[in-house]
Amino acid sequence: DLATAADDAARGGFTLREVQARLELGYHLVAAGRDKEGMATLLPAMQRAEELGDLRRPADAHERLSALYEKRSDYQPALMHHKRFVEVKSRLDGRLSEQRARLYEARKELQRLRSQTEDLHQRARDLEQSRSSLERLALEDELTGLANRRAFTKEFEQWCAQARAGDLQFGLVAIDIDEFKEINDQHSHLTGDAVLRQLGQLIRANLRDTDFAARLGGDEFALLIADSEHGAAVAAVERLVSVVRGWNWAEFGDGLAVTLSVGLCESTDFGDSNELVQRADEALYASKRTGRDRYSVWEGDRA
Ligand code: GH3
Ligand code: MG
Repeated sequence: DLATAADDAARGGFTLREVQARLELGYHLVAAGRDKEGMATLLPAMQRAEELGDLRRPADAHERLSALYEKRSDYQPALMHHKRFVEVKSRLDGRLSEQRARLYEARKELQRLRSQTEDLHQRARDLEQSRSSLERLALEDELTGLANRRAFTKEFEQWCAQARAGDLQFGLVAIDIDEFKEINDQHSHLTGDAVLRQLGQLIRANLRDTDFAARLGGDEFALLIADSEHGAAVAAVERLVSVVRGWNWAEFGDGLAVTLSVGLCESTDFGDSNELVQRADEALYASKRTGRDRYSVWEGDRA
């Protein structure tokens, strides 16, 4: 039966199963006293098993043969098979511990790669964060959090383009703090910074979401105020000048007072965007000239 099973397995291409069947067959032949025939079956099967990378089956076979011969008091072959058993078994154990070591190494490598991947993800997140904060810094005035000159210029050009297309009317506002050098000198530069920050907040609080505010640098600010009825910009500027005048600046320093000079022009009849800037500046200097703490509206040559 075993011989048939082995032949069947061989025909079916199940080499390990064939080897298993031949090992069984050989053992039974030896057990039945047909030693020569049995070994002729066993030895090539063991060889084949080893070729297939299977040491366990040859080891088992040697162990069983050794026990079999021992029971028969046939010590010579019992000893021989025991030696072969020990030899194959130790090769098998060595291979197992080698596999275990390789498995351990692989696991360590996996952990290393995982933590490397985690590091890379973290670095990517950090980079993304610094990228967006750089982007913000590039467009934002650090002290007040308002837009900076670069962002203002970009926005202003867009508003001008829309105004030229007839889609928008707006007021351009130029703001400069009065005698700001004095504030720095009489109090401190830090106090000056606190005033700039507070002014930034007052400006923000007094504008609508659709308006745009920037600190151009130093004590200069600029506003874009959407103004379809020619009145919103003037109202906003009037309110801002008065709010700043009335603010409790003494909190920042004894006797400290802050006022603004403001110039305003509307986005009508202009060619170049610089023309509007010049008009707002002219109006601002009119406010400075005529006593500060006020706003002026550019009206042709009468600003
Ligand atoms: P005016 O009424 O004619 O505008 O007089 P002013 O003293 O305000 O003159 P100006 O606008 O030319 O002076 C601006 C001052 O603002 C000069 C500079 O020392 C100061 N300044 C510029 N940037 C900063 C800043 O970031 N912080 C502080 N504290 N001071 C600044
Ligand atoms: Mg000033």
